[in-house]
Amino acid sequence: MAMHQFKAESKKLLDLMINSIYTNREIFLRELISNASDACDKLYFKSLTDTSINVKKEDLHIHIAADKENRTLTISDNGIGMTKDELEKNLGTIARSGSQDFKASNQNENIDIIGQFGVGFYSAFMVASKVTVVSRAEGSEEAWQWSSSGVEGYTLTEAEKPEVGTEITLVLKEDTETDKYSEYLDEYTISGLVKKYSDYIRYPITMYREKSRQKPKPEDAGDDYKPEYETYTELETLNSMVPIWKRDKKDVKPEEYNEFYKSKFMDYSDPLRVITSRTEGTATYTALLFVPGQTPYDYYTKEYEKGLALYASGVMIMEKCADLLPDYFSFIKGVVDSEDLSLNISRETLQKDGQVKLIRNSLEKKIKNELHAMLVNDREKYETFWKAFGRQIKFGVYGDYGMHKDLLSDLLMFYSAKEQKLITLDEYIEKMPEGQKAIYFAAGDEAARLGKLPNAQLVLSKGYDLLLCSEDVDEFCLQIMHDYKEKEFKNINSGDLGLETEEEKKAAEETATENKDLFEEIKKALNGKIKDVKVNPTLQDHPVSLSSEGGISMEMEKILRKMPAGGEGMESTKVLELNPNHAVFGALKAAHEAGDTDKINKYAELLYDQALLIEGLPLEDPVAYAQLVCDLMK
Ligand code: ADP
Ligand code: MG
Repeated sequence: MAMHQFKAESKKLLDLMINSIYTNREIFLRELISNASDACDKLYFKSLTDTSINVKKEDLHIHIAADKENRTLTISDNGIGMTKDELEKNLGTIARSGSQDFKASNQNENIDIIGQFGVGFYSAFMVASKVTVVSRAEGSEEAWQWSSSGVEGYTLTEAEKPEVGTEITLVLKEDTETDKYSEYLDEYTISGLVKKYSDYIRYPITMYREKSRQKPKPEDAGDDYKPEYETYTELETLNSMVPIWKRDKKDVKPEEYNEFYKSKFMDYSDPLRVITSRTEGTATYTALLFVPGQTPYDYYTKEYEKGLALYASGVMIMEKCADLLPDYFSFIKGVVDSEDLSLNISRETLQKDGQVKLIRNSLEKKIKNELHAMLVNDREKYETFWKAFGRQIKFGVYGDYGMHKDLLSDLLMFYSAKEQKLITLDEYIEKMPEGQKAIYFAAGDEAARLGKLPNAQLVLSKGYDLLLCSEDVDEFCLQIMHDYKEKEFKNINSGDLGLETEEEKKAAEETATENKDLFEEIKKALNGKIKDVKVNPTLQDHPVSLSSEGGISMEMEKILRKMPAGGEGMESTKVLELNPNHAVFGALKAAHEAGDTDKINKYAELLYDQALLIEGLPLEDPVAYAQLVCDLMK
């Protein structure tokens, strides 16, 4: 008999399965049942459009049989079946969606992979020394048998099968000291596993179970009659067939939700929050949603596909319906089941479907409220959530020209310079001392450096808190919001911070008038690099600082410059601020009085470059800067 080889990745995965020391082996049953259920779904779905197929939903089922003598466990279904080609293609290579992840994860014998990706059909090899699949595809007269004992390969032979469907037989591995594979032949264990992992499967999962009953009492039984018992077998349905999202939340154990989430959405950690929603009225639907506990590895890439599984009256019609989720909640996983949708709905009609829009709007509100409830009631979890997905929420505020800011702004968190932890905008406002009018923030790529900026020190010295914004999206997000509860956001580098006292202001104005000519000269020296020169009496130890005017800050300029389009022409309007109380200012004045234009030109360049360095902006001409410093030292 010809032996066929497995594809390279499949071989690796298979090898991993066979030699697995994974403690959660029992999931093999869940995987095989889930495949059987998918096969039933496929046949039923096909029958809706193909009139030549005559199946009713009630006819479809999954059957489990254990044979203790021969150590075999058989899982069969009367679903769509597989042709010879399909057996080869589906079982000879990892065809599953998770296979890409598997390849990408470069596994190095990592056992965790099993838990991570829910490896599907091959998990049978965790418990079986040999797996045989006999299948007959819908519409085909012939049946084929696929059989494999592991990595050496598999055989494909013609077989007999009277009915359409698939039958998978596992020969269980021999028991060892530590591993009792024979437990999977135990009816009680099997029934427990079905309850645990596959209860919601919508097709009956049946098994013959041996039972015992009292024989009827004979008419002529005397006083000393002792009841007699007999055994019989009965076909039992092991699962309740009620999808988990249709059950009452109070009847579902948290572990059941977690199990469902992990197996359905291929995550290996529990969700942070489970959201259930059931509505009637304009949009009738049941939803079971999850906030994942960690960022999917491809989340912030183009590869990530958002969406919820969509069911119409209990039948899955789409695995990932993107139209049900706005982008800012794209991390949400889950299921939506609605009776208002037609089974024959297509991707195209779905987009225009009014019902889908209603569901989406209602879910959006629900998700928002649940996230906010998490923020209020379970801060630690919320911060975990925020670290995983906060960036997405900020993009949500910024996106669509700020259209969603009212919905999302009370979910925002930023790092507080004063408290050295994440705080919300409401918390910032609550702690504002009397007299503080604005919400101050500093933007740049390192939070630690931001707190040391001259203006940051100034804000903090007034007893005001400062939000340290170190993500590229932060400033765009705050700018589009403009204010929060009527408190304007103020970038500490935006010039007019309104922090000087009346006297300081007046003195600054006087100094500016006195030195009008000097300032003109500096402006000329810097030849278009700055829009203006100003006096800033609040700079303390710093001789100079840069601020910006208008819509684009210096930090934004930095980010825009990194963008593929280059951000050409997207430059900030800079103002050079001088500290009138600093010795450097005296030196400038002296040079001006002496009429030393050359010196003023050099000083202006130097001060401008220094200010750029403090802001973390690149010097236009580092060599010239170095030259200037040397000249001065000579
Ligand atoms: P997945 O279910 O994620 O696609 P699996 O490894 O579990 O991955 O299964 C691989 C493929 O084998 C399935 O996609 C399906 O096409 C096929 N398959 C497995 N079991 C059955 C079955 N009982 N009936 C029909 N097809 C099946
Ligand atoms: Mg599967």
